[in-house]
Amino acid sequence: MRLSIPTPVFSLPSPVSPLTIIVPERRRSKSATQSGITIHYHRPRAKRVGSLFTIHYPPFTPSIIFPMPLSTEISQIIRSKRKTYSLEVKPDGQLIVRAPESATRAEINAVVKAKAAWIEKTRARLAAKPAMPPPKTFTPGEKFWYLGKQYPLRLTDRRYPLLDLDGSFNLARHVGGRAREVFVAWYREETRQITHDLITSYVARYGFNVNAVSITSARTRWGSCSGKGNLNFTYRLCMAPFSVVESVVVHELVHLMVPNHSQKFWAEVARINPGYPQSRAWLKQNGHLLTLD
Ligand SMILES: [Zn+2]
Repeated sequence: MRLSIPTPVFSLPSPVSPLTIIVPERRRSKSATQSGITIHYHRPRAKRVGSLFTIHYPPFTPSIIFPMPLSTEISQIIRSKRKTYSLEVKPDGQLIVRAPESATRAEINAVVKAKAAWIEKTRARLAAKPAMPPPKTFTPGEKFWYLGKQYPLRLTDRRYPLLDLDGSFNLARHVGGRAREVFVAWYREETRQITHDLITSYVARYGFNVNAVSITSARTRWGSCSGKGNLNFTYRLCMAPFSVVESVVVHELVHLMVPNHSQKFWAEVARINPGYPQSRAWLKQNGHLLTLD
């Protein structure tokens, strides 16, 4: 018996142990962005240790609940001049069975029953991919991502800071139509800080030769690397769980040594970041949710 779809392999990342990064003291309480907006921010969970900072990023918990239909009900049977069976699960969960012309309903049922586990797993995987989120309206209660968790938006009557995160995203009401711009600037700065901390830590440990780091507005790429040691990351990166940010940073850092995706490249990625496959799977499954559009 041949299945038309290979058994999918998917698992959510197991929680990572808290990572400690030590970076030189250089924290600012506010920063001027390219768009001229001043953002005041504080880093939750940042603890001062002497002249160094120790930052603990907690393990993340996915905040999406996955519905899992469990039925092995057949939606459609297509008989043809074939010798083998083929099972297909459609994105909406429907099960299509392709069967030989002579197959009886009992035989088909037996085939489906034998593959019940595969069908359930495939349905769960398809159902688990959350639909595209609706366009952002920047209205109270709307949720925004930061390090793999979603926080609701609140509007405040204060003048400054324009935006901060403290259990909720607190946006100054007078920002009005510039809300998206303010969020982009905030994410940009967070991604800059986090990638800087990670790169500093990896450079100290592995001696990568980094020239410059830029934060871009790329929509489809999480990170990229140029031949001259320049790394680019999209501002959306800090919406992802910390372990995912880490895996994207490691991917680009390893490109500084191995410019292609050869076996050598993946071996090096696996050595530095053993959780890479789980992070990649998370991003594949949820990456489309990490947007301000
Ligand atoms: Zn690559």
